[in-house]
Amino acid sequence: MQTHRKVKYEAELDPSFTKWVSTVPGGERIRECFQCGTCSSICPLSVYMDISPRRLIAMADAGFKEEVLSSFTIWLCASCYSCSVNCPKDIKITDIMYGLKRRAIEEGIFPSRHFAIPILAKAFANMVRKNGRATESRLVVSLAWRVSLFRLLNMAPLGIKLLLRGRLSFKKEKIQNKQEIQTMLKALEANR
Ligand code: SF4
Ligand code: SF4
Repeated sequence: MQTHRKVKYEAELDPSFTKWVSTVPGGERIRECFQCGTCSSICPLSVYMDISPRRLIAMADAGFKEEVLSSFTIWLCASCYSCSVNCPKDIKITDIMYGLKRRAIEEGIFPSRHFAIPILAKAFANMVRKNGRATESRLVVSLAWRVSLFRLLNMAPLGIKLLLRGRLSFKKEKIQNKQEIQTMLKALEANR
């Protein structure tokens, strides 16, 4: 799935992104990467990624902001930590992936407009913020509505079966003291 990307001139790179990556928790040692390729060779998913972990680290460090944030790689990463554990330079690649995902959500940069994973992550976070819990059925409908109505229709027969057997409910799930979680999240955001 590797793709050929446009060659960039140095002036087109984003040095502020390079600086930011080194401040992401786990990214402090990114400059020490010597491109050994251990992370790519050990990653169980690198074969499906459009940019290998080794290349992604090099591109993030060089300031290829758009390319890195719009890559499938950061969303395909399954957080197995194999790369981080085996990196000879102790670079926390998995944590960098998390940082890149957060930045991609903040900036709204995704591989495509209807890319499901960040949409699901956002819907999940909004639901937890509002009710303290997520209601799976509502989450699925909200995701399908934004990603593909066709898929929602395809899933309808299964959904109806689950509803009839009481395995699925549209009843909104919520915790008793919703304000507490909202206060906690606000405090976390204020400290970022
Ligand atoms: S394993 Fe570590 S040093 Fe080697 S390429 Fe990956 S990030 Fe760089
Ligand atoms: S943490 Fe992500 S990038 Fe690292 S080996 Fe696992 S799947 Fe690959």
